[in-house]
Amino acid sequence: MLGVGWLVFILYLSGQSYVIRKSRMLVLAIPAFLSVAVVCWNPAGMFLQINNELGPVKQLQHGPLYWVMIGQLLLYLSVSLILLIHKLRMKDESTRQRQMVRTALIGLFMLAFFAIGDLLVNIYFIDLLNNYIPLISIGLTTTAVYIVNAISRNRVFDIIGIVQRDVMNTMSTGILVMDENDVILEINKMLQPILKLRIGDFFQPFSLAAQFKDEPARQLLALFESQRMRPMERLEVELNINFNDICYVVVQSAPILDGKKRIIGRVLTFQDVTELRMLVEETNSQNELLQQRNKELLVMQDELSQANRKLEQMAITDGLTGCFNRRYLLQQLESEIVSNIRYGIPFSLFIFDLDHFKMINDRFGHLAGDEVLCSTVQAVRRVLRPTDVLARFGGEEFTVYLPHTNREQADLIAEQVKMTVEQNKVPSGIGDGVVSVTISMGVRTIDRFDLDNLTDPKSYLRELMAEADAALYEAKYSGRNRIVKSKLA
Ligand code: GH3
Ligand code: MG
Ligand code: MG
Repeated sequence: MLGVGWLVFILYLSGQSYVIRKSRMLVLAIPAFLSVAVVCWNPAGMFLQINNELGPVKQLQHGPLYWVMIGQLLLYLSVSLILLIHKLRMKDESTRQRQMVRTALIGLFMLAFFAIGDLLVNIYFIDLLNNYIPLISIGLTTTAVYIVNAISRNRVFDIIGIVQRDVMNTMSTGILVMDENDVILEINKMLQPILKLRIGDFFQPFSLAAQFKDEPARQLLALFESQRMRPMERLEVELNINFNDICYVVVQSAPILDGKKRIIGRVLTFQDVTELRMLVEETNSQNELLQQRNKELLVMQDELSQANRKLEQMAITDGLTGCFNRRYLLQQLESEIVSNIRYGIPFSLFIFDLDHFKMINDRFGHLAGDEVLCSTVQAVRRVLRPTDVLARFGGEEFTVYLPHTNREQADLIAEQVKMTVEQNKVPSGIGDGVVSVTISMGVRTIDRFDLDNLTDPKSYLRELMAEADAALYEAKYSGRNRIVKSKLA
């Protein structure tokens, strides 16, 4: 059993534990079990025989099965030895692995030494002895003591501990672990050169804080003070320090609790968050820039929409007089007459033209003529209702669309317009002289509706305008400064 146990131990140690599946383990242990059976059964004394005729020390006679067992034990040990030597000769193993194998090898030699010694002393030189010397038992004990001692001294087999230490030492976060009495148990490589503290030292918040200056030192002391007041909580503080290239450090203090939630120590972590903070600051400043750009964009958008509105306005307005232009009026009329006809809403159209305007231009100049045009528009506007649409149709000719306006209303408004223009006095620009003009007007009221006109509203509109124009022509022809109602109306 010792042999197979040792072999399994070596297999695990040399990293070949994958060989030991349950089935293989059984096969591996068969010789050992047979030996146990042989020892217990001792068939016909073939394992051991007691010869009562001899003295007490020499009574024990070893049979052939005993030697088979010894052979089998040697076989197990040889295989273990081969495995260990093979492992030791492999160059790529880590120092820790080699140390483990070396420890096991020394243990194996010690065991073999005592076993061989036992064999020689108690079997071959038994004649020289008066008492049995339990060398193999001494060997087992010595080997066990040696291996246990090696384990505790070198921590050879404490793989988890080694891994934990490796991980801690390769971390970029500083870690300091202390027990419940504030004695430092562990301090990782990252922290050692910075904090000048060693394992076994008594942790003192003041001496730690003294390694920082002003505000960070004060913040650290405040952290430890809070920790003292609220020991069960995990506390955190961000320090702005200037140490090497480190600018921002997050210090975290957390209690270590046992299974019953009792504090058995404390862990302090120091994390360099400079890059993170820089990144955040960079992102923030980029955000600010973006917001600034957004604001500028919004202003630009506003300006653009204002310009658009202006352009739209300009597109439908006459530049000189400020009233609507011909394009807008026709567009508006096209859609309005459709609904007027469909719902039977009466409406009227005026076309008026300034009489002998050329003469004003000739006498007072073009600028004065412009002034007369603008002033006439303002005067006409005063008479019209807000819903009426006044548009310059071209030159000194204007059109008015009067929605919801029957004949009587149209006549009344037309008369008012004519009168207002006639009474309107415009400075001539020559001394204190004033100019006044008259207008001739054609009026067309639509109060009878033919739904057939809906099929082509554009040409119907053209027809209406031509009729109003004809009335204007008639007004001119018959002496000017008058209103003529369309004959067709
Ligand atoms: P009528 O009574 O037959 O309408 O005579 P009229 O002189 O008003 O008509 P005519 O068509 O002979 O002349 C129109 C004049 O209007 C000619 C043109 O120079 C002038 N005119 C057209 N547009 C403008 C303008 O924007 N400003 C000025 N100052 N004059 C304009
Ligand atoms: Mg004219
Ligand atoms: Mg004209």
